[in-house]
Amino acid sequence: MRLAEKVAFISGGARGMGEVEARLFAKEGAKVAIGDVLEEDGRRVEGEINEAGGEALFLRLDVTSEPDWQRSIAATVSRFGRLDILVNNAGITPAFAALDESTLSDWSHVMDINAAGVFLGMRAAIPELRRAGGGSIVNISSILGLVGQDNVHPAYIASKGAVRLLTKSAAVQYAAEGIRVNSVHPGVIDTDMIAAARADPSWVEQTLARTPMGRFGQSEEVAYGVLYLASDEASYVTGTELVIDGGWTAQ
Ligand code: NAD
Repeated sequence: MRLAEKVAFISGGARGMGEVEARLFAKEGAKVAIGDVLEEDGRRVEGEINEAGGEALFLRLDVTSEPDWQRSIAATVSRFGRLDILVNNAGITPAFAALDESTLSDWSHVMDINAAGVFLGMRAAIPELRRAGGGSIVNISSILGLVGQDNVHPAYIASKGAVRLLTKSAAVQYAAEGIRVNSVHPGVIDTDMIAAARADPSWVEQTLARTPMGRFGQSEEVAYGVLYLASDEASYVTGTELVIDGGWTAQ
């Protein structure tokens, strides 16, 4: 039970990596709140965790809405008594467009969800983490928060770069209060997010050729890294970036 007695909030927990993290956290003893815009999927995950003997709560959350964040964190604390862990996992990736062909509205939409969503999540959670005597924030960036790429929308890459340094800024700012803040940088992971791209055999071929391990990652392989950073095992780890990418950024 690596998260015994802990209360965690996971944004984007209705499917994909967030869902796998929610299930893993519950298995490791945490009470888990899931915030997402996908109500049906979120309620299914909530129900399945509860049926399996865990404790889960689904909350409708649009990460771009400050009132949604305030309500969701308040509801989590009201149900579970405290907050120890925040995983800012919700994110989107738009269809590719070259920089000179993409619009300001594409840019704003992606930055609102992927970057401002993380900012708002931390803003809402920090007072509760402080009240709990400290805690852990894990922000999901990407390998594309570390390096560029020619076939991914530039706003996605900019948003994930913003998450990387927002994480370090918060890590430094809150270290003395026992609030640790780290980022996770997954490579290409086999979730619904890449489903459309996966339908294109040339994309698959090119992507696997760029991945030293020669395969896509699985959500569980990221979730265990998030679990480590969320847990007290990482008690001296803050401001770091955990890369889980099959070797993509090592070359
Ligand atoms: P996914 O599309 O399966 O899941 C993303 C979740 O975020 C969904 O449940 C979605 O409903 C939720 N979400 C989207 N917009 C939201 C909003 N405004 N408010 C609340 N929830 C919202 O994708 P995934 O692959 O599981 O991605 C999880 C995170 O990992 C994302 O931040 C993504 O950018 C990042 N990531 C993914 C990959 C990959 O290859 N799949 C690689 C690196 C990083």
